[in-house]
Amino acid sequence: MPKKKSAKQKTPYRKAPRTPSAPACPTVDGLSMLHVFESKQAEIVETIRQLVEIESPSDNKPAVDRLGAMLAGRFEKLGGHAMFHRVPDFGDHLQVDFAGKRDVKPVLLLGHLDTVYPAGTLSTMPCRIAEGKLWGPGAFDMKSGIALMLHAIEALRARHEDTLPRPVTVLLVSDEEVGSDRSRRITESVARRCEAVLVVEPALGSKGAVKTARKGVGEYTIKVTGKAAHSGLDFEKGESAIVELAQQIQEIAKLTDLKRGLTLNVGTVQGGTRTNVVPAEACAMLDLRIAHMKDGKEIDRKLRGLRRFNRRCRLEVSGGINRPPMERTPAVAGLYEKAAAVARQLGWKLEEAAVGGGSDGNFTAALGIPTLDGLGAIGEGAHAANESVVISQLPRRAALLAALIEGL
Ligand SMILES: [Zn+2]
Repeated sequence: MPKKKSAKQKTPYRKAPRTPSAPACPTVDGLSMLHVFESKQAEIVETIRQLVEIESPSDNKPAVDRLGAMLAGRFEKLGGHAMFHRVPDFGDHLQVDFAGKRDVKPVLLLGHLDTVYPAGTLSTMPCRIAEGKLWGPGAFDMKSGIALMLHAIEALRARHEDTLPRPVTVLLVSDEEVGSDRSRRITESVARRCEAVLVVEPALGSKGAVKTARKGVGEYTIKVTGKAAHSGLDFEKGESAIVELAQQIQEIAKLTDLKRGLTLNVGTVQGGTRTNVVPAEACAMLDLRIAHMKDGKEIDRKLRGLRRFNRRCRLEVSGGINRPPMERTPAVAGLYEKAAAVARQLGWKLEEAAVGGGSDGNFTAALGIPTLDGLGAIGEGAHAANESVVISQLPRRAALLAALIEGL
């Protein structure tokens, strides 16, 4: 889960009817499941510890493959059929298919194997338990989520005579933290065969809100080529790429519209060689966030249509939108209502939130497949030194996931 949550805002919580006669998942007995997971809390913690202690930086194929192999074994012990989507330069993506009692489309449990931490991080940031939390690199984002998948499947098999109530597919990709270029097509094709997608990325905040909207993400490079000249002898013969770029940045900044959830952040600027040379080159990179796909198309058109201030400079715009927004469609809202009904059975109010960061759930939601994100653990410090998960909340999150799989 990319960390930027700058434009996070809570969407209004929609109250469902309180009458016990109208639960959304009448077949699900969330409370009995919660008791099972409470008795398994230590096992869940141990699983998370094992996963955290196999480091898996996105750019380290052997490391990610080690974690993938270990998990393939764990899921196969639970009766799943594991296969790898081979990737030459990143870790292999792991897919596990489980048959189920009912003859319906599978539900997809989506997540990622990779973390943002370089190999060796465990030596300075060891996996440890303190203050009621499990700490370590990737503990929150999202090794605890993978552990929840394992234990939810295990518990459902125990309830259903060694099978699952419905088919389930698990997909754990290797490159989510670096943009999912190598996995997007696979995620989309697997999701198309599924009824719904449950993204077990970290929950939001101390109450563990699920995510029903995520912004789309784009990245652009603005490159200006001017003409170099001696700033003292031939100033007027030069064409400053930096002056041109500075004006373009002003134009780009005007495109931000906070009310629409639309932001453009020029995050890096480079240019010039020395103070006494009129700069021939300058370049800026920007991050675009959109709440609505149609805004993305319009901004893309405007960026590509930027007009030069200095006709003697050359202006090149490259890049594009790499994650569409996850919009709160009726399908997404419907899935949230089901999750909220399960949570009510467990005695708590599950909130929903819209966040600025993207995940692979953006891809599946954009295809129109009901997608609910943020079903993972409660914790804090994703991508940071204080990354940790709250141990006492793990049984509840496992029960929510299991009950959702059963009740869909
Ligand atoms: Zn993540």
